[in-house]
Formats: sequence, C-alpha cells, structure tokens
Amino acid sequence: MGIQRLAHNSPYSHHRGVKCSGDGGVLLRPADSWAGVLVDTGSTIVAVDAGPNPWHAEDTDYLLLTHAHLDHVASLDRYSRNGAKVLCPGDVRDDLGLVDSAVGVKKVKSMLYDVIVHPIPVEHTCSAYAYVLDLEECNVLVTGDWHVGPRTIDGEIKPLWKAVREVVGGEGVDVIVSEATRALVDAPELGGNERVFEYALSLHDPRDVLAFLQPTDLEIIDTAFRVASDLGLDVVVDSETDRKLKFLERRGDVEWEYDVADEPLVRSLYLTVSWEKARELAEAGLVEAVVGNWATVHHLRRRVGVKYAYVIPRSGHASRPEITRLITELEPSCLVFRHRSGDATRLERYYSRFVDEVRVWVGRGCRDESLELPP
Ligand SMILES: [Zn+2]
Ligand SMILES: [Zn+2]
Repeated sequence: MGIQRLAHNSPYSHHRGVKCSGDGGVLLRPADSWAGVLVDTGSTIVAVDAGPNPWHAEDTDYLLLTHAHLDHVASLDRYSRNGAKVLCPGDVRDDLGLVDSAVGVKKVKSMLYDVIVHPIPVEHTCSAYAYVLDLEECNVLVTGDWHVGPRTIDGEIKPLWKAVREVVGGEGVDVIVSEATRALVDAPELGGNERVFEYALSLHDPRDVLAFLQPTDLEIIDTAFRVASDLGLDVVVDSETDRKLKFLERRGDVEWEYDVADEPLVRSLYLTVSWEKARELAEAGLVEAVVGNWATVHHLRRRVGVKYAYVIPRSGHASRPEITRLITELEPSCLVFRHRSGDATRLERYYSRFVDEVRVWVGRGCRDESLELPP
C-alpha cells in the first residue's frame, strides 16, 4: 500500500458528515502537540487520547482513551463538552474515576459507525491499551504508551505484536502510531531496579524495615528477592501478596522463600502488592524507607509523610529493540511517532531502515501534518 504525503499546509478542513479527504481515503492527523491522534474516515472522526490543548475537539465523534495518565487525558472534558463520546475499557474508566460519562469499549471489539475498534491490553505503569482500528481497507494500530516488559503478576500479557496478529491475521497492519519516548534507547527498562534496592538499603540501618510497595511486576519482585538474599535479609509478605506469589509458583515460573506475617520483622524486606497495605505500614511507622513506582512514592510522601522514598526507575515505555521488534513483526508501510519532543531527524534516520515511511509528529509544528491512506 502506498501512502501519499500531503502538503504541510494542506487546505484540509472538516465538516461533520462530509467527506473531505479527497478520493474517499482515510486521513490520519495529530490531535494535539503531544500524544493524540485523529482518524478521519470521511464519515467518522475518532480521536485516540486527549493530550493538552487539542486542535480539533469540536469535530470529533468518538474519543478513545489508552490509559489514565494525565498527558493522555488532559483534554477529556473539552472533547466531551463538544459532544464526543468518550470510550475506554472498564479498568481505564475506573482509574479515571469516571462513572456514567464513559461507556466502555468492549474488550473484544466495538463498532464506531464505520470504524471497528479492537482494544489490546499492553504493559505500562497502569492499566493501558493499544487500539487496532479496522478501517475496511486498512488497519491502523495506535499504541498510546506501551512496552513489552516482563510478565505481570495476574497472568501472562501477550507481547503486543502477538496480540495484534491475532486480531488482524494475514491482513497485517498498514500504519503503526507509536509513542517514541525511549525509541532511541537501546535497553528495555530493567537494569535500574537492583541499584535502587541496594542504594536504599545501604542508607538505612540493617535493622530497618524496608517496605517494597506494589511490586506488580515479576522482574521487580525477583530483583527484590535476590537483593534481599544477597544482603541476608528475610523477606516478609502479607497474605494477599502470598496468594499472588503462590499463583506464580504454581505455574512453575519461580520459587521464593519468605515468611507471611501481619507485622513486619526486624531485618526484613517487606513485600506488599497493595497500596492499602503499604499505606498502613507507612502510617504505623513500621517501615523506615519505601521503594515503589513514582506514583506510589509521591502519594506516600504527600499523604502519609514518609521521609525516605526511592523510586524504581521504570516508566513503562518501549525501547528501541521493543519498537523494532513490533515493526518487524507487523511490517507496516508507515510508522508515525508521537509522545516526544525534538530529534525527529535521528528517529527518521534510524527507523527508515525498517519501514518505507517514517513520520515524526512532535510539538506544535506538527499541527498541519497528515497522512492519507488511499481507499
Ligand atoms: Zn503513560
Ligand atoms: Zn504518556
């Protein structure tokens, strides 16, 4: 499939219900300067994600949200005020605290007039989805934030490319719109965890208890156990964590030794998977230091007044090898990058060896960019 580049200052304008993309093709455009993307079939305009200061909120029929991070939902109200129907899977809706205002897209597929939407769960630092938009003549994958990452505690999440293949089959994907936060970084995000534990433990008395919060990530749990055993610390978990670790052990993936206790022990590393338990420990002053993801640590510092807090360096964004794998597995004709500022040339230069057409839509300057998918 060939893709034509429209002029940068295309006189394109949209009127609801009127085909404007020339010969009936689908038009893709940035919806804001950050992460949002518009897919315009001529009859329907679907936006994926609501970054700050959207450019076309008043024309949009449907707004799909990938996850509840602020840089993806900042202009949600603006879209819904202008009549767009806001859609996201139930767990994203819960993260956002939306009740009636959002009607969930189904986990399998939903029909938005002439666009069939398939939400695909992806790994990030919260519940997150990518969407395959089936546009009759072509398939577009919009990822939002994603990485392949390790297995999660409640079950295996398929690598994105496998899940997408199951949806599109032999038809493949014509266009991938991906975030580009770590697109030029060579290592998947795993290396830093060990250092955080060692650093935190080195600053505290070995009799201290270190609370390790919300380790929903198997690689992080593994690292915690390894570091604890190197340092001769006992690992203590609460009963909920015990249940989840047993679940993993039953699958034969791992084997850990730990105590289950209501009260953390001296010289121990306390492992908890729930925010409530973590807060309880912190509020009771039972832990000296906390290690967690940035959101947990931020909340504990502000709401509970925890003094020593260390953040696991994990942003949940795809690195160069992960993005490269995605595009070599799915073989799109075009790759569009969003969710980054600057260095468009380096991205184009590197990724054009795998894809015919690479577009980097970053910053305010991309406002008039568009991509026409021929019928
Ligand atoms: Zn995010
Ligand atoms: Zn983001």
